[in-house]
Amino acid sequence: MLHNVHMQQSCTQCGSTFEITENDLAFYKQIGVPLPTVCPDDRFMRRLNERNARKLYKRTCDLTGQEIISPYNRNHSFPVYAAEVWWSDQWDEISYGRDYDFTRPFFEQFGELLNVVPHQGTFVCTGTMQNSDFTNCAGYCKNCYMIAEADHDEDCYHSNRIFHNSTLVDCSNCYECELCYEAINCIGCFNVMFSEYSQTCTDSAFLKNCIGCKYCIGCMNQRQKEYMIFNKQLTKEEFEKQREELNLNTIDGLREMRQRADDFFLTEPQRPLQNEHNENSTGNHLYDSKNSFECYDCKDLEDCKWCAKVFSAKSSVDYTSWGDSAELMYQCAACGDHAYDLKFCTTCVTNNSNLEYCGHCTGSKDCFGCVGLRKKQNCIFNKQYSKEEYESLKKKIIEQMTENGEYGQFFPPELCPYGYNDTIAMEYFPLSKEEAQSKGYKWSEEVDDIPAVDKTIPSAKLPESIEEIPDDILNWAILCEETARPFRIVKQELAFYRQQNLPIPHHHPDIRHNRRQKRRSGVHLYKRICPNDGKEFLSTFGPERSEIVWCEECYLKEIY
Ligand SMILES: [Zn+2]
Ligand SMILES: [Zn+2]
Repeated sequence: MLHNVHMQQSCTQCGSTFEITENDLAFYKQIGVPLPTVCPDDRFMRRLNERNARKLYKRTCDLTGQEIISPYNRNHSFPVYAAEVWWSDQWDEISYGRDYDFTRPFFEQFGELLNVVPHQGTFVCTGTMQNSDFTNCAGYCKNCYMIAEADHDEDCYHSNRIFHNSTLVDCSNCYECELCYEAINCIGCFNVMFSEYSQTCTDSAFLKNCIGCKYCIGCMNQRQKEYMIFNKQLTKEEFEKQREELNLNTIDGLREMRQRADDFFLTEPQRPLQNEHNENSTGNHLYDSKNSFECYDCKDLEDCKWCAKVFSAKSSVDYTSWGDSAELMYQCAACGDHAYDLKFCTTCVTNNSNLEYCGHCTGSKDCFGCVGLRKKQNCIFNKQYSKEEYESLKKKIIEQMTENGEYGQFFPPELCPYGYNDTIAMEYFPLSKEEAQSKGYKWSEEVDDIPAVDKTIPSAKLPESIEEIPDDILNWAILCEETARPFRIVKQELAFYRQQNLPIPHHHPDIRHNRRQKRRSGVHLYKRICPNDGKEFLSTFGPERSEIVWCEECYLKEIY
């Protein structure tokens, strides 16, 4: 069997033992790389650290002086250009070209190049965005604000990983939803609030794992139901009366309901994994995939392993963000959009092929150790070579890197410009400052810009309901209940809260984001025994968890 363990390796970073299977070995041989010496989790963490999707800093474009926002704070030695400037011919990446020095390690020289070549200000699909300046890792959006990892969205605010939605506030991982608030991993829902893992539900709140429900509150595992509260069937009149009593238009009412719903959810069987339409695959939040293993938040994968946040990829291993027709990707992060045969690359976007150890390149092929290339071929350290020169020099560098142990390793963490806590790594592997630093990662200290406002108000002093909130709130800064960090409400957001009769949130958008991430199950698969039929199954819920977790078969039998 291909999953037979070929050998055990000891991780050079954390010391844990990890397996290399016959299947893994065949892949490494096929693409000509040495066996990994770092365990899958440490490799995963390192790649995640290459993507700062939603922490945006105000700064200026280093070429034009225009004000921009950027995932890069102001303390980097490389210049940062506004996206449209970076893509223009106002600068020349080949002018940074240099010879490779065989007396020094590769990573040291790559770090020097990385620190001088201009970086793109934000990662947006310029030309497809309308009135959506404060966004990152986004394309095809209209009237959006503070959204990240998003495409084809309209009127969406403070949300991440949202695709084809309209009018969302504070949502994560949603597809084709409309008018939703605090929704997590929902698909095709309309007017749904504080809900997770639900599909095609409408006019409901506090749902978990429901499909096709309407006018339901605090329900779990329901299908095509109407007028239910805590899974109890009510008449329309009873439902309306009880809904009124829940005071879901106040912070206190919402808080109490969150607690009651979470307590109730612990009494219902939990789906072991959130996977749909897969063939011979493992992972979580995995959809429409085939022969893909240990993949998370992915869709349309074939013959993949250890992928996360990837859509549409084939034959790829150790690949994180974002796919979109990618094939033969190995140890790549934040690369995608028609990518073929990329190894050890970061942030290489759109139409790249045959790149190794490159960062921030686009439309390029057959390049090694380059930064910021646009439509180039046969370059090494941003210097142009003939095809023959390129092949022979690349071969020599790989030989040197193999000898000194660099070849086969992803870029060391000190070459990453982001603080660990600013990146999507925190969503899967939350670490403290000390833990992150001990693994060699940088850490960003929170420095909020002091907002230029008329008034600062602690969130506890906000009026209870939205009716009492004056328009003037748009000129105030609110202090987060938990962190005292100031945050502001934008006009469209206020209109949304008013329309939905929701109170103004008391927490900073970052805290709201973290809270949603915590409600999603993790990226570790535990072997568990089903309490019903004694069968072994995989779940992201470890045995120490208080949820009732059944195998998928038993779960479905109970639900349908
Ligand atoms: Zn390790
Ligand atoms: Zn079972």
